[in-house]
Amino acid sequence: MMIRCSRKKPPGFETFLFLPLALLFLSACSGPRTPQLITVQPREKQNVVILLFDALRASNLGCYGASPSPSPTMDSLAEDGIVFEHCYSQATWTTPSVATIFTGYLPGVHECGLSETKGSVEIRPLRPSFVTVAEQFQSSGYKTGAFIGNSLCERGFDQGFDGFKVVNQWPAEEHAKEVCDWLDACSKEATGRPVFLWVHFWLPHYYRPDHDKPYVAPDQFYQALYKDTGPPLTDNDKRIVAQLANVLRARLKNEGYDGLYMKDLSPAGKEAVRRAYNSNVLYADQACLKPLVEKLRELQMMDNTLLAIVADHGEELFDHGEFGHHLGRLYDEAMRVPLILYSPGMTPARIQNWSSLADIGPTVLTLSKIRPIESQARSIFSADGILLPVNRFVFTECYNSVDDDSLTVQYKGEKLIFHVQGNLWESFDLTEDPMETNGAAPLQSLSMMQSRLLEKLAEDKELRQRFGPVSSEKIDADMQEQLRSLGYLH
Ligand SMILES: [Zn+2]
Repeated sequence: MMIRCSRKKPPGFETFLFLPLALLFLSACSGPRTPQLITVQPREKQNVVILLFDALRASNLGCYGASPSPSPTMDSLAEDGIVFEHCYSQATWTTPSVATIFTGYLPGVHECGLSETKGSVEIRPLRPSFVTVAEQFQSSGYKTGAFIGNSLCERGFDQGFDGFKVVNQWPAEEHAKEVCDWLDACSKEATGRPVFLWVHFWLPHYYRPDHDKPYVAPDQFYQALYKDTGPPLTDNDKRIVAQLANVLRARLKNEGYDGLYMKDLSPAGKEAVRRAYNSNVLYADQACLKPLVEKLRELQMMDNTLLAIVADHGEELFDHGEFGHHLGRLYDEAMRVPLILYSPGMTPARIQNWSSLADIGPTVLTLSKIRPIESQARSIFSADGILLPVNRFVFTECYNSVDDDSLTVQYKGEKLIFHVQGNLWESFDLTEDPMETNGAAPLQSLSMMQSRLLEKLAEDKELRQRFGPVSSEKIDADMQEQLRSLGYLH
């Protein structure tokens, strides 16, 4: 395990109690050469707030190295919190990824998602046989609330929530206000019950059907990040950018839209899309995150709150030639997501080892002194609040994708992608090649990773039986059209 110490010194800590374990965490620090134990003080009855941003890739945040930074609020929390540098979602689109966060089971087990056969579209909801993280908080006396900005996480996802409101693609300000009003109401009730709050923000997702721009950020956010309008666009670029959603939908069917093709965007056109995305990230930071943080502070709830900032998946911005997150490609930009834990008084740290988003549920439960139920995920911290020195295999899966089904396993910076239909492997050494340009890299852990992948597939099959048959529901024409407009159906 590699741990890079944050620039801040930890507060006083009874190191001698944990000295044998602490030795496991010795590593080079960028600051004073003091051995540092990464800990979070577990607290009973603390509030737990998880804020998920849809399609937010880690690498475009200031706290993950982006400049100019489109994420000042997030950066500020990250500076005083714990940042996981290499956290990966277990799917590259919304429903299976969120179902994994809720249950701790991988997509191959819960099988949540969509299926489209012969024109009939069915949705596979989250089944009641799974126990969600919300149910575990609820049964421990928490008041639980959810505000869901993406209706793909509607069916079966309400398990364990006292209040579950779907605010599908609401404007950011209205969504944030709804959540703040709920926090106000919780505060006035003064029941003494801690809250578990789950918020799924639509931003910075690229599109809203009622909006005339591919990214919805008001111009002020672009202007706050960029002094100029960028390199000059060709007429073709302008038309593609203006019709980005339509062009993407056509691309998913290997077609053009009104003579426009995504592949014909010039470098300037791609830069325009990247800038629009970053402007949307800043919009999310300012219109979603900032008011919630201010509200928690205003209500004096923050002092007893563990905050987690995550995303359901990343976004391709032409890093490997494509755009969006609907192609099911398992490259870093579609899978690497932010994971920031923040609580006032926390010892800041940056964790370099490879982590799974699936582990966030058991982690926040453990840090709230609630024992998580058994699943494929596990807490990143021990019951004493000490970061566990265990490297794990990180899996990400994509089924029913445009091109083929594929899954990936990562271990200590090495990565294998297995393309099921073609029976092909790609291998990357992310430490040497973070941009994933060489898909045939020799890997030290190759045979171990292949074995683990096969074990995992067998394990998934056994676990699937435990949860009973998959149920699926036909979805109505309106929902189908909405999904189609967003690129989830072809
Ligand atoms: Zn999503």
